[in-house]
Amino acid sequence: MVFEKLTDAHDPAELSEDISVCMLASGSRGNSIYVSDGHTSILVDAGLSGVEIERRMASRGLSPGDLDAIVVSHEHEDHIRGVGILSRRFNLPVYVNDGALKSEPPQLRHIRRQSFCCGSPFKINTLMLHPFSISHDAGDPAGFTIHLRNHKIGIATDLGIVTAMVREHLSACDLLILEANHDPDMLVNGPYPWHLKQRVKGRTGHLSNQDTRALLEDIGHHRLQHVILAHLSETNNTPEKALAEVCEGIHSRQTSVTVASQDICSQIVLLHSSSEFLEADYV
Ligand SMILES: [Zn+2]
Ligand SMILES: [Zn+2]
Repeated sequence: MVFEKLTDAHDPAELSEDISVCMLASGSRGNSIYVSDGHTSILVDAGLSGVEIERRMASRGLSPGDLDAIVVSHEHEDHIRGVGILSRRFNLPVYVNDGALKSEPPQLRHIRRQSFCCGSPFKINTLMLHPFSISHDAGDPAGFTIHLRNHKIGIATDLGIVTAMVREHLSACDLLILEANHDPDMLVNGPYPWHLKQRVKGRTGHLSNQDTRALLEDIGHHRLQHVILAHLSETNNTPEKALAEVCEGIHSRQTSVTVASQDICSQIVLLHSSSEFLEADYV
């Protein structure tokens, strides 16, 4: 496997034929993932302020004005903070399920709403999304697979347990964005109050590094190009611990593993149109 083979050079014009993914932010202070196939571009979650999302996109040559939609995984603040403002400012439709609106979060008022239901695939232009239920303490939290051309991207970043259904949905992906929230020892011995420790490691909390390693041992395969570890706790985990643990579960030497950061926008990860694995996978 390959770690962090990144360069700084990129030209947005060159991205047009490739499937690109960029982690604008990941963690309990804000989450947002950019996905594009060159024709349709979306954000999965917009959990930073609108201004900060715009700033981070600009740092990678991207603009919210070029987005086609925002998709909301669940209504926790770290996933929706900038949804309303971006939707209104750039006239973007927001795909959100009924469960996320039950508590009437102010960030999801006055949006151009499109509905989806977990279990029912839906299309946004050239992208096909399959939302599936995950176990998390929100109204109706969703993970997603996104099908673009002959590629499949899987996203599951807030879940307490990996169910058979989650495993099934995330199988055969070319790129996986998976939570690796905490190191169990750091959580148990760390500063969180008891009730919060219970919540994090409970069935509706967050996946540990070990949980994610076990998941990858099950669903890893030779065409899995990238794994991006997401939603790391800043208190109960370190990127080094997450990488060391999770990489033990990776079968293929072709699979690269990186860690998404809370404070810095990631490099753009490219999935090439051909099914062949190429060396220059980041710009
Ligand atoms: Zn979250
Ligand atoms: Zn959450």
